[in-house]
Amino acid sequence: MQAQPANTSVEADVQRADVAIIGAGPAGAIVSALLNRQGHKVVVIERQHFPRFSIGESLLPQCMEFIADAGMLDAVNNAGFQFKNGAAFTRDGKYSFFDFTDKFSPGPGTTFQVQRGTFDHLLASEAQKQGVEIRYGHGLTAINFKDTGAELQVQPDTGDAYQINARFVLDASGFGRVLPRLLDMELPSNFPTRTSVFTHIQDNITADWHDRNKILVIVHPQHNDVWFWLIPFAGGRCSLGVVGESHYFEGKTDLKECLQGFVNETNDLGPLLSNAVFDTPVQKLSGYACNVKSLWGENFALLGNAGEFLDPVFSSGVTIAMKSASLAAPLVDRQLRGETVDWEREYAIPLKRGVDTFRNYVSAWYDGRFQDVVFFRQDKATHKISQMISSILAGYAWDEKNPFVTEPSRRLNALAELCRG
Ligand SMILES: Cc1cc2nc3c(=O)[nH]c(=O)nc-3n(C[C@H](O)[C@H](O)[C@H](O)COP(=O)(O)OP(=O)(O)OC[C@H]3O[C@@H](n4cnc5c(N)ncnc54)[C@H](O)[C@@H]3O)c2cc1C
Repeated sequence: MQAQPANTSVEADVQRADVAIIGAGPAGAIVSALLNRQGHKVVVIERQHFPRFSIGESLLPQCMEFIADAGMLDAVNNAGFQFKNGAAFTRDGKYSFFDFTDKFSPGPGTTFQVQRGTFDHLLASEAQKQGVEIRYGHGLTAINFKDTGAELQVQPDTGDAYQINARFVLDASGFGRVLPRLLDMELPSNFPTRTSVFTHIQDNITADWHDRNKILVIVHPQHNDVWFWLIPFAGGRCSLGVVGESHYFEGKTDLKECLQGFVNETNDLGPLLSNAVFDTPVQKLSGYACNVKSLWGENFALLGNAGEFLDPVFSSGVTIAMKSASLAAPLVDRQLRGETVDWEREYAIPLKRGVDTFRNYVSAWYDGRFQDVVFFRQDKATHKISQMISSILAGYAWDEKNPFVTEPSRRLNALAELCRG
């Protein structure tokens, strides 16, 4: 796709928008549509041309509510993506799963597993159909904040740099983390540096125990802090990845050999993929967990991965990105209408509540507590507790009626003790 021409209805060198959004991934697409619906002039600048590859392919049911609010549900439902209704786990020959339709919180219990190139392009195109202007191939290079908003310097990949003056800026630039870098707001994550090596395969799976409607998370037989994802797509393809602390990957320069080597160390994934065709280049990402000093500042807020990213293990990234969009849009609307908004109380604190729920589960996954819950739950936990956990894994990490949300650490510790006992 060609870079789109700059809006000609405004002055030639300085252009104006109510809201400038950096990045057209899930956070940027959803928030742009929500603000456009409120009647604001929104301009999205997106450095790349869509469709483009992105990792993060297993959605959680909670995000279907945000997709619906943005008026994109029919498009997503009709796109032919792989249906998803839960998460399955294997460790040491044990198999366990959570059915997301059997959960404590109200709301959708199913969603999809998506090639993100197609999915993100679909969301962005739906936003465009609703009237949002997206400028592909335009990257933000500098920003200057003022009392009245911000001046953004934009560099198209063809043509001259130009300036947009916006009353409010939303940074949805994902791992680009544009404002945290430009404004020196970056903080390291508390999690150790982990690496992921991944690809797409033609899976040729015939085993009848494998359920294509669920993400499969496989624990490595020797190192329980190393795990794999197998995310089936429609059409017999899968996303396959391995995750572990970076030292496990040292010296492994041939990524295909590295990934296949890890797979062949397992007793379940190896046989499952014995006929798989590795037909796509293998990629590697390291040190993706990140944090920031603040999720907002005067006339800007950070959405999705531009704020914080925890870990891929519970597929929470897109849901958190969309939740941040859903929380920020009405606040931007109110601020643009002249109301005072308390961004800490109304945005950062509520967003972090769910992020912190996931944080507890991520920590407990890697130290083994949550793995013990997952693999022993059918014997020891009651159905109601299982439904509460299922809700969180389905993305309802902000549901304050769920005791495992209000007291994630204490409840999880108690449950792990019970399961271990
Ligand atoms: C190994 C791994 C596996 C994962 N698996 C899952 C999963 O299964 N499920 C899940 O939900 N999440 C998963 N995630 C997380 C998921 O990838 C992210 O949380 C999600 O993509 C965040 O969405 P976003 O809209 O914040 O950012 P993004 O989707 O990254 O979009 C940001 C956009 O901003 C653009 N941009 C960047 N810089 C600039 C600039 N200077 N100017 C203009 N545009 C710019 C980029 O081109 C990009 O299109 C995974 C992450 C990792 C690392």
